[in-house]
Amino acid sequence: MEQFKMYIDGDFVEAASGEWFDSFDPFTGKVWSQVAAGGPADVDRAVQAAHKAFTSGPWSELTASQRGMLVHRLGDLIARDAQKLAEMEVQDNGKLLAEMQGQVNYVPQWFYYFGGLADKIEGSVIPLDKKGYFNFTRHEPLGVVAAITAWNSPLLLLAWKLAPALAAGCTVVIKPSEFTSASTLEFVKLIKEAGFPDGVVNVVTGYGKDVGEPLTSHPLVRKIAFTGSDATGRAINQIAAKSFKRVTLELGGKSPNIVFDDANLEDAVNGAVSGIFAATGQTCIAGSRLLLQESIHDEFVEKLVSLAKTARMGNPMSTETQVGPITTKPQYDKVLSYIDVAKNEGANLALGGTPASRPECGEGWFIEPTVFTGVTNDMRIAQEEVFGPVLSVIKFKDEEEAVKIANDIRFGLGSGVWTSDIGRAIRMSEKIQAGTVWVNTYRAVSYMSPFGGYKDSGVGRESGIEAIYQYLQTKSVWINTGAKTGNPFVLK
Ligand code: NAD
Repeated sequence: MEQFKMYIDGDFVEAASGEWFDSFDPFTGKVWSQVAAGGPADVDRAVQAAHKAFTSGPWSELTASQRGMLVHRLGDLIARDAQKLAEMEVQDNGKLLAEMQGQVNYVPQWFYYFGGLADKIEGSVIPLDKKGYFNFTRHEPLGVVAAITAWNSPLLLLAWKLAPALAAGCTVVIKPSEFTSASTLEFVKLIKEAGFPDGVVNVVTGYGKDVGEPLTSHPLVRKIAFTGSDATGRAINQIAAKSFKRVTLELGGKSPNIVFDDANLEDAVNGAVSGIFAATGQTCIAGSRLLLQESIHDEFVEKLVSLAKTARMGNPMSTETQVGPITTKPQYDKVLSYIDVAKNEGANLALGGTPASRPECGEGWFIEPTVFTGVTNDMRIAQEEVFGPVLSVIKFKDEEEAVKIANDIRFGLGSGVWTSDIGRAIRMSEKIQAGTVWVNTYRAVSYMSPFGGYKDSGVGRESGIEAIYQYLQTKSVWINTGAKTGNPFVLK
């Protein structure tokens, strides 16, 4: 059986404890590999290596252009190995090969974009109000970054952190999810080949308590870039506050996908299906609350259910498959328990609601695409993130009520608006409290466009130019060009 070691200071190493944990293939439900079970000693080794690489040695001596070239080269190597990386993630995570091929072929763009940005971060000369001084600013890297990722899209979520962090000049300790560490450990083989000095990128694998906590509380870590649940994000934010570490928190969502009666219904049905059943609903931006205007509700639900029924489930390695397994057994149990919650709350089951017993699903953790109608926004099934293929359909009367329902929730990550009225599209995009509003589309992302949450969906932004500033801090430099030093007891 394949065993994956951690990557610390340029070497693949076993955990200090010598222990391993199992990683499962969600399609078979069986163990397929083992991963080194890291702990506080491994975290300390990795952070010390990252700190040393940040403060001394070749990385700290590179020009911004040289750094950018390395980040760019890493993108080239990912493109070269895209198929291998995609297959590794399918095996470990159960994501569809068709989706992963697209994703891993797109990931290099984050490294090209931020690699290109590395030598375009300019300070300013401040036109001071005081004579006799020259004042300018510099944007300097924060230091050691802890990059902690969720299980649902390990490589993409890592790229969103690693590319800007390295371009900014930081060094990084990565902690992938204990459920899906393999693709990160395969990816990290490219770091040395790209030419990064040892210690610049490290990976410590293991559980949240054993690795995540010591990493977030380590005094030499200056920033935590986290993707995961709001509960863990809150805990990390509290730990980070004790030593004033910076945080970027990309958390959960319960995004409204809102369809007005003037929308192109065929497109909107496609958008609704892709919003909740793509990636088996295991995406932070899942359009898990479908808000339908009363006048089109019944027709829309009928079309939606007939399209969702055609979804081909089965082996995620087959490019024909459209809905794959749930990635982890605990998540499979959680999704089923939310289906019970919805039933008990009185929602009407319009489709699915059971584990998938189709022969092509074998022993894997599959759940039928599930649609609940008659949901009201105060139900738990409307307010809590399920993170699976479960859709809650909610009726609304008019624009005002749609906005009220959309915003009456603690999350604010994604949102969709389907309408042919441009004025309404703009009004809705102004009123919805979410980091992303898609109009007549859903689930589009780009390395150029900022991504992040309002409210409990997170802090900070990934992608786009502003993302690199989240790994930088500003220094103001004052030079006396002839001012009298004057009275030492008053502020100049
Ligand atoms: P999770 O919070 O359980 O785990 C995320 C990571 O944090 C894992 O690596 C885990 O080991 C680690 N961790 C756990 N406890 C920790 C602790 N005390 N200290 C430090 N690290 C700790 O989340 P998950 O189940 O892996 O991921 C699903 C969640 O991620 C969903 O809520 C989803 O919406 C969210 N997500 C958000 C985005 C986004 O960009 N906003 C993207 C993908 C997933």
